[in-house]
Amino acid sequence: MWCIGTVKKDEWDRKSNDSVFPDTEDSPPRDYAKLYPDPNTEDTVMGSLVYCIHHKKGCKWMDELRKLQGHLNTCKYDAIPCTNQCAAMIPRLLMEDHLFYTCPKRRTRCKFCNREYNGETLEGHVSSCQYEPVFCENKCGLKILRRFVSSHQMSECSKRLVGCRYCQKEFVYDTLQNHTAKCPRYPLPCPNRCESSKVPREDMEVHLKDHCPSVALYCVFRDIGCKFKGPRFALELHMEESTNAHLVLMSGLVSRQQHQITSLRNAFQNLTLNTSGILLWRISDYTQKMSEAKSRKSYEISSSPFYTSQCGYKLMATLFLNGNGAGEGSHLSVYIKILPGEYDSLLSWPFSHTVSFTLHDQAASPEKACHIVESFVPDPSWKNFQRPSKEPDSLGFGFPRFVSHETLKKLNYVKDDTLFIKVKTNSSKIAAV
Ligand SMILES: [Zn+2]
Ligand SMILES: [Zn+2]
Ligand SMILES: [Zn+2]
Ligand SMILES: [Zn+2]
Ligand SMILES: [Zn+2]
Ligand SMILES: [Zn+2]
Ligand SMILES: [Zn+2]
Repeated sequence: MWCIGTVKKDEWDRKSNDSVFPDTEDSPPRDYAKLYPDPNTEDTVMGSLVYCIHHKKGCKWMDELRKLQGHLNTCKYDAIPCTNQCAAMIPRLLMEDHLFYTCPKRRTRCKFCNREYNGETLEGHVSSCQYEPVFCENKCGLKILRRFVSSHQMSECSKRLVGCRYCQKEFVYDTLQNHTAKCPRYPLPCPNRCESSKVPREDMEVHLKDHCPSVALYCVFRDIGCKFKGPRFALELHMEESTNAHLVLMSGLVSRQQHQITSLRNAFQNLTLNTSGILLWRISDYTQKMSEAKSRKSYEISSSPFYTSQCGYKLMATLFLNGNGAGEGSHLSVYIKILPGEYDSLLSWPFSHTVSFTLHDQAASPEKACHIVESFVPDPSWKNFQRPSKEPDSLGFGFPRFVSHETLKKLNYVKDDTLFIKVKTNSSKIAAV
């Protein structure tokens, strides 16, 4: 038995029908049986058993060679032209599938719109069928018939872009509400219920600060006691009408501050208070002060006050550069004055401390210096040593002819245009030097 399953059918036909192969030098004759037909041999060949040429595809047919052509006319593995005339060659076995599913000439319906198409036109139609449900391209998650997609995207899609009607910027629809809660141009009613129409969120601060007619404002003189508080227009009126009242408040402030200044000054003086009983008095600008003293008769220079001790008598020295009383025009006069002090009520009166005045010789070598000293023990009968009243300018006690102008020019009493006078008090009644 031979197998000729690999010979193609048309080749087979040619072999069976052609009586002779072309006899050319290039292609030598291949079937000598055809050239020299032998009825016996042909009969033997045609009677031999063969498989169907589609044996390898699964056809189990096997019979005499002469019956092969007949079998092929019905073999379900044998390809025949599509019965729908699409021109494809389709094995009988697959024809039904082909006609139903793949034949371009098959009649079919679109499963979405149910219209009839042939296989070829359906393919083009499916991707544009208006009844096919498709996912929204904005990824909102919805499936919509293709015909409604554009209206969905225009007006319903939660992911469509919409412009904020207040700030005109574009937002995805489902974030718009969030945005509106923060939109800087969103109009809000004024919290003071003023009559201005709504104010954009970002302008509210300026509105309340500078423009809102209803915001309650304090009078600018609030700090000095004006109690007025009212809307802007009322404040303007108040300012016009209250000039006098504000002036009264202002002058009250000034006098309160004056008191503060005085008490601060006193506190300061207390801090720098001299309680040693000794005053070293530096008189600078001697030349200028002397010429002033010569031109003004009562030109008196006062020292800063000092105390004889921590809680003692309050004293002050005064100086007439051009003299006073018996020393006028020729001498330098010095006096001591008792001032009203804070501890006067605890002290014994009259004042009985010894007082000495020293004019310093500012010699280069201190051991050669020749100071001028005068001192006195207070006379208890003198009214100057009684407890002083609150009246200022009480009389002093001292030396009208302390140092003559002649003496002043000698030695180093004036040096660098400056002189030093030391005032010393002592509670023992012996004159101190
Ligand atoms: Zn077959
Ligand atoms: Zn077909
Ligand atoms: Zn359709
Ligand atoms: Zn959508
Ligand atoms: Zn906005
Ligand atoms: Zn307002
Ligand atoms: Zn006011």
